[in-house]
Amino acid sequence: GRRVYMSSEVVDSNPYSRLMALQRMGVVDNYQNIRSLSVIIVGLGGVGSVAAEMLTRCGIGKLILYDYDRVELANMNRLFFRPHQVGLTKTEASVQTLVEINPDVIFEEYTIDITLSANFEQLLDRTQHGGIEPGTRVDLVLSCVDNYAARMSINQACNELNMPWMESGVSEDAVSGHIQTLLPGRTACFECLPPLIVASGIAESTLKREGVCAASLPTTMGLVAAMLVQNTLKYLLGFGQVSYYLGYSAMTDFFPADVMRPNPECPNSFCRQQQQKYTEWTPMVYGKKTQN
Ligand code: ATP
Ligand code: ZN
Repeated sequence: GRRVYMSSEVVDSNPYSRLMALQRMGVVDNYQNIRSLSVIIVGLGGVGSVAAEMLTRCGIGKLILYDYDRVELANMNRLFFRPHQVGLTKTEASVQTLVEINPDVIFEEYTIDITLSANFEQLLDRTQHGGIEPGTRVDLVLSCVDNYAARMSINQACNELNMPWMESGVSEDAVSGHIQTLLPGRTACFECLPPLIVASGIAESTLKREGVCAASLPTTMGLVAAMLVQNTLKYLLGFGQVSYYLGYSAMTDFFPADVMRPNPECPNSFCRQQQQKYTEWTPMVYGKKTQN
């Protein structure tokens, strides 16, 4: 049967009581808000599948999952998928595990390539109408893909809809990664800053080259997934300081943080249009609520 979580009493066997303790300890004003939140995850690889599991265990209201691929034996050096799931689509394998972990989460799964035009329209529609309340938009889009074209599609959809999203990436050599918060018109979009991407050397190397057998480590991918979901919780539940760009370099345990502002000459016209709305915007500083 369905397990009833979220009782207000502290019951040790209740998986939500430890989450609700965040509220009693003053970290989060209203942890229960998580039940009303809907998040899209595009890409269920080494980062996205783990992010989906974390949000499921955190008691998110709804997850809308996209991936066009199947589980392979070669994925076993990452977390989440298991050998008996080889051959299943990543979306069906994910939902299979996640509903068992937390049956209170609403799942939608789409096994499609989001860059194809009909599917891009479908992504736009779910972004606008996939919220918990019928007809409302989702609260956040998480990009956990591994290629340039898919990131460009998510960037386009979110710029058009003024939808906040977070991007993630792990380098081909598996020893660095990053997350980034993209608030259209307020922080740099994916097309805003090619020079900075090249300068940092981190983001560029996350753009997968065709035919290259990339390295991968469950450690780096798990860390990037955790950085991504931690930032998601902070952004959506309104605690702590949201990272706009947070890098991770395993070699030196270096975590560079930065805010990248949009480029007024961004080639994306929707980005330039959104920028007109937010000329007064300033990045969130710890202790003050962000302006959405
Ligand atoms: P690898 O390519 O290293 O063998 P992978 O394909 O699982 O592994 P990850 O970086 O772990 O790569 O995950 C990225 C995920 O994003 C993959 O599961 C992939 O199927 C998915 N993905 C990439 N592009 C798209 C797209 N256009 N539409 C839907 N899903 C996508
Ligand atoms: Zn831009």
